[in-house]
Amino acid sequence: MENRVPYRDPLHLMQRVTELALSLVDSADGVLIALVDWEGVLTYVCGAGMLRPYVGFRLEIEGSLSGATIQSGRVLICEDTASDPRVDRLACQRMGVGSSVCIPLTRDGYSFGVLNVSSASKAAFGTEDGAALSELAEFLSVVVASAADLDRVARHILEATASERLGGEPFARTTQFVTNVLSPLATEQVIARQRIERVLRQGTMSMVFQPMVQLSSGALIGYEALARFGGHLRRTPDVWFKEAAAVGLGVELELAAVNLALSYQGRFGPHTVMAINVGPAALMSPRLVELLEEVDGSRIVIELAEHFEMPDYEALARAIDRLRVTGARLTIDDTGSGLASLAHISRLGPEFIKLDREVTIGIDRDPARRALASALVAFAAETGPVVIAEGIERPEELRVLESLGIAIGQGYHFGAPAPFEELRRMQRQLTESHPGRAR
Ligand code: C2E
Ligand code: CA
Ligand code: CA
Repeated sequence: MENRVPYRDPLHLMQRVTELALSLVDSADGVLIALVDWEGVLTYVCGAGMLRPYVGFRLEIEGSLSGATIQSGRVLICEDTASDPRVDRLACQRMGVGSSVCIPLTRDGYSFGVLNVSSASKAAFGTEDGAALSELAEFLSVVVASAADLDRVARHILEATASERLGGEPFARTTQFVTNVLSPLATEQVIARQRIERVLRQGTMSMVFQPMVQLSSGALIGYEALARFGGHLRRTPDVWFKEAAAVGLGVELELAAVNLALSYQGRFGPHTVMAINVGPAALMSPRLVELLEEVDGSRIVIELAEHFEMPDYEALARAIDRLRVTGARLTIDDTGSGLASLAHISRLGPEFIKLDREVTIGIDRDPARRALASALVAFAAETGPVVIAEGIERPEELRVLESLGIAIGQGYHFGAPAPFEELRRMQRQLTESHPGRAR
């Protein structure tokens, strides 16, 4: 379909409010919008800056500055979250918030939500910041309230017909009207969202594991966990994760995959590590720390792809520090697209860098690939990380990679990703034919 008008998801409007508020107030490091739900609990629906990972979190009205703002209907400023009795001190400490301004969002004289503007430092906001935001309070209230209304009504109508469409029923006229207003992409988004919600609800995702081998000894050192999605749609996992991110469920799906992968840890030998994949948003989620605290973190390696759009290295580095407390280590995945980005990435202090499969394919026949791999090995030797090569399919590729000094390998040559049970069968065969080598 040509000339598509982009879908103006009403939530985008709220998201824009948080991002613009962040740039409006100089000393702000993070912004959240919380709405009161029908149970009288506050839910963060949109966020920007350092508070973005907290979208989806809920908090009680009692015992929080946001709640006090709702109850009083006034702008409240907290200078120091460590000593102010109105705030939830533990939550602020966890979120890294030193001081905040909260603006009530009101309609017909009652507060339905809060705009929370926060800083990592104490006493970051003066009365002039409060005044500037108060001046905008009426406008913000109208924008957020109408966006929330529009979202609720449109979603209600579209979801009803999206399920009809899945059943092969024709579109209802009302839906056509709504999609024409909001743009045709809306329906696709709702269908995509339902598809992912179904996976999350029904637990139809499964895991496969691919061996990682030490090249010098041939010893198995661990496995990379990779997600698989059942159903008739034959799509690679990266397509699923991209789609989930596009409809706002990226972190949810990635953490569900992590949770599933980690549930296998006890079944693997005590000396094997497990590599798990996450994007930057899931990496920054406090829920990832919680999941890792439940397992032996020292046997987990987190793979973060190099090609992410995430210039906020400071926030990323802070999140990685929190993850390292659990013993987990970091791999920068898909390395090889550019040495420039690598300079940034080395600031995160990864324990491993994993060469992109593109670098491995045909490395035995291509001097350019060999030169690139060799430059990356030299870079790693200078900066610390151990190099892993993936996508090794042929012994010729393996020999070249080994001669370049690459320590760890992965690829069909050693074993394709397989479900746990199959892996066990393969290992048993391996133990029988090479009793000294396999574990
Ligand atoms: P990735 O992290 O780079 O994973 C490696 C991909 O290379 C896997 O594809 C694996 O099956 C494939 N592969 C391994 N060895 C060979 C080989 O020798 N030759 C070739 N041609 N391919 C090989 P897969 O499983 O389809 O995953 C694709 C991508 O989807 C992953 O790339 C990763 O970005 C994403 N993904 C998969 N599972 C997860 C997950 O649980 N969480 C997240 N966040 N992303 C995942
Ligand atoms: Ca990976
Ligand atoms: Ca990779």
